[in-house]
Amino acid sequence: MIKTMDLQATNAVYAEELKQVAAEVIDKGWFLLGERVKAFEQQYASIIGCKHTIACANCLDALRIIVRAYMEMGKLKEGDEVIVAANTYIASVLAITDNRLIPVLAPPHPVSHNLDLGRLEESITPRTRAVMVVHLYGQVCWGEELEAFAEKHNLIVIEDNAQAFGASLEDGRFSGNLGHAAGHSFYPSKNLGALGDAGAITTNDDTLAQTCRTLANYGSAVRYVNQYAGYNSRMDELQAAFLNIKLKYIFSENNRRREIAEAFCQRISHPDIMLPALYPSSDRNIAEVASHVWHLFVVRTQKREQLAAYLLDNGIQTQIHYPIPPHRQQCYSGQSPVTGAPFIIHSGAKELAERLADEVLSLPISPVMTPDEVEHIIQTLNSWQPKTRF
Ligand SMILES: *Cc1c(COP(=O)(O)O)cnc(C)c1O
Repeated sequence: MIKTMDLQATNAVYAEELKQVAAEVIDKGWFLLGERVKAFEQQYASIIGCKHTIACANCLDALRIIVRAYMEMGKLKEGDEVIVAANTYIASVLAITDNRLIPVLAPPHPVSHNLDLGRLEESITPRTRAVMVVHLYGQVCWGEELEAFAEKHNLIVIEDNAQAFGASLEDGRFSGNLGHAAGHSFYPSKNLGALGDAGAITTNDDTLAQTCRTLANYGSAVRYVNQYAGYNSRMDELQAAFLNIKLKYIFSENNRRREIAEAFCQRISHPDIMLPALYPSSDRNIAEVASHVWHLFVVRTQKREQLAAYLLDNGIQTQIHYPIPPHRQQCYSGQSPVTGAPFIIHSGAKELAERLADEVLSLPISPVMTPDEVEHIIQTLNSWQPKTRF
């Protein structure tokens, strides 16, 4: 079986190093707020190119702490609106609603599946204060339209960089260093994955960095003195130790993902399968395009159930990212007592998000996939004979 997320195989590559460093952490007996987390923060900031990295427990925390920090700084308040793509993973939206702000679920682009930067103006109201851009599936969501829009309306831009570690623009700037602040995930199956939960906040803003660090430490910058009603959101020394090892390999792993994506895009050809595409479109070889790190390889088909069953019969596992869009989730079905409405979504965005949720299918992609496995996936897809209903 070719799995979509083979964590055993991906970690086997550096198992010896991981075991050794785990033993070192155990022997030392220092598990939180230690030198390995500090080393990770410094290394991560220098790779991304931003001034501050604050390690924390996971990406949902990173994002909600960023929003909360802006509230504590007086730059956001309850009831403010934050534009975010309607087809994102629920965590992006939870970070907004958890702080009692209102997500404006905006139309995704039908090709990139990222926030449609050409349709941003449709979501603006006098209450809009921020945009959360999600680099979905590993592709950077950024462009001049977004920069101009944020400047025109004086908006804070927060990046959800959970899926796109190592992606960069043509000018070399990395995702996570494009907006005012970014949340990062090191959930085990992400491109840069820990062996458990871990996350980080990055920013170039000194005040925001200090506020986030304080919030993540119970709201306390000075021991036993609590400035804010904060959180306990820390990265373990153990996870930092693992991540420091994995950082050595991540760029070559991302390149391997690009090679596989290139092979899939060049050689999968089927009238019922829509392949992912780079955005804006590029005539370059996919393997050389820095703006996508292919966390997921997501195709679209109107016969998804049939295709998934056929692939499984042929030893290929698939997943769906994501089957239910945030606006259809039970948790948002009631009215918020605070704001009167848990989110805003217009019919165009709703239709697009629901269509994508019905049609997307993630094929296996991973740096440890063998050439034979890649070949098997291509051949299997190309020889699919979908049944018509009648
Ligand atoms: C995984 C993910 C998150 C959440 O990350 P955690 O570390 O699991 O909290 C947030 N946003 C997106 C787009 C994700 O894929």
